[in-house]
Amino acid sequence: MSTEVSTEDSKSEKKRVSWDQYFMNIAVQAATRATCDRKHVGAVIVRDKTILSTGYNGSIRGLPHCDDMGHMMENGHCVATVHAEANAIIQAAKNGTSIDGADIYVTASPCWSCFKLIANSGIKRIVFLEFYRDERILSVSKQAGILLEQISLEQ
Ligand SMILES: [Zn+2]
Ligand SMILES: [Zn+2]
Repeated sequence: MSTEVSTEDSKSEKKRVSWDQYFMNIAVQAATRATCDRKHVGAVIVRDKTILSTGYNGSIRGLPHCDDMGHMMENGHCVATVHAEANAIIQAAKNGTSIDGADIYVTASPCWSCFKLIANSGIKRIVFLEFYRDERILSVSKQAGILLEQISLEQ
């Protein structure tokens, strides 16, 4: 009898995605709004299983999108956009939402500039899907006391 119950439990556990996967799925959705086709990135800031803010990479407010006007290239990277993580932090600031102690879910690991913003915003955990570019965040996150975790959406 108790064996049957635990089988049922493990079945329903398999069907439900974890909280990390749930919020990462939402970050993947946010990325579909990105307006620079060189890379689509989405970010979701979460505390206590509640979404505080979201962002995706896009042009300065009111300026044309890369997808319409072309990129602004510098050293092989497009610098026209505000990155997803920065936009999520900005959205929280605009709305007066505290993100101290929160987690951030990003579809690609933060670049150095975004990592610095995340660290100083009080975010304590960065969850990412794909590793992107900057190796410095691996050691500096440890020094800064920020958890850095890579997850996969495959079940
Ligand atoms: Zn661009
Ligand atoms: Zn960035």
